[in-house]
Amino acid sequence: MVAKSSLRLAENIAGNFYVDQSCIDCSTCNWLAPESFKGAASNSFVHNQPDSAKSIRQAQKALISCPVGAIGTEQKTAIDAQLRFPDLIADNVFHCGYHAESSFGATSYFIQRQAGNILVDSPRFAGALVKEIERMGGLDIMFLTHRDDIADHQKYADHFGCQRFIHIDDAVSSAGEVEHKITGSEPFEIDDELVILPVSGHTKGSACLLYQESFLFTGDHLAWNIEAQNLRAFRTACWYDWSIQTTSMKTLLDYKFEWVLPGHGRRINLPAAEMQKSLVKCIEWMG
Ligand code: SF4
Repeated sequence: MVAKSSLRLAENIAGNFYVDQSCIDCSTCNWLAPESFKGAASNSFVHNQPDSAKSIRQAQKALISCPVGAIGTEQKTAIDAQLRFPDLIADNVFHCGYHAESSFGATSYFIQRQAGNILVDSPRFAGALVKEIERMGGLDIMFLTHRDDIADHQKYADHFGCQRFIHIDDAVSSAGEVEHKITGSEPFEIDDELVILPVSGHTKGSACLLYQESFLFTGDHLAWNIEAQNLRAFRTACWYDWSIQTTSMKTLLDYKFEWVLPGHGRRINLPAAEMQKSLVKCIEWMG
């Protein structure tokens, strides 16, 4: 999967970075490097050539993360030495990069902690990422938010021997092999820092993971919407039941969190009180 200059999309502005025709419009590059990439009707393109060290690094993060290798450069460009995945977001929470096509480019996350490292949803099983996770202490737990974002979970489980969790209603296909299948709609504590919150709706067995009452990993249940400048669920990508999703969204009001880290779409960090207000607005909008 390497981008081809001969397939460069016409919308790209002239210059080194480009998106080619293999783009599947997953929007990863748009939120990861918005200075350089933008979405059009059915693909993304380069609207500004990155020209500072920071913007070049962000564009290179998008290039590495692109699930289909649709981002390329005309000139051979060395990857920024400071660029490494997992890439720190805050505290001990990291973005894994290396998005998988089989998860339609969903974002996965890594949490490094004394009590055991965690992978939230599955990135591609890429050698460079696997090595870095090994260097950071390996994997103890893998949490799968729902059936669509499981990608290479079996390879990670085989390699690291980690214990996987998924809701039983989404334990379909290869997720049937997952070690721990949670049931029902009640919260499930993995340990005193980690709580699984079942949030049926996007899929029947969708679930969020709350870490340290601060980081909420939401899969495709909830994300930040840039146009609305508010939290939103994906109305046109609700595969199970919108009314059930609205009800399960309300259960999140019982929890305090400052980060929403989604599978698709944009993450957001707000003070807990503002996050709560945004969630209330989202629920009103859903109704
Ligand atoms: S990350 Fe790749 S596939 Fe996704 S929108 Fe950007 S260019 Fe397209």
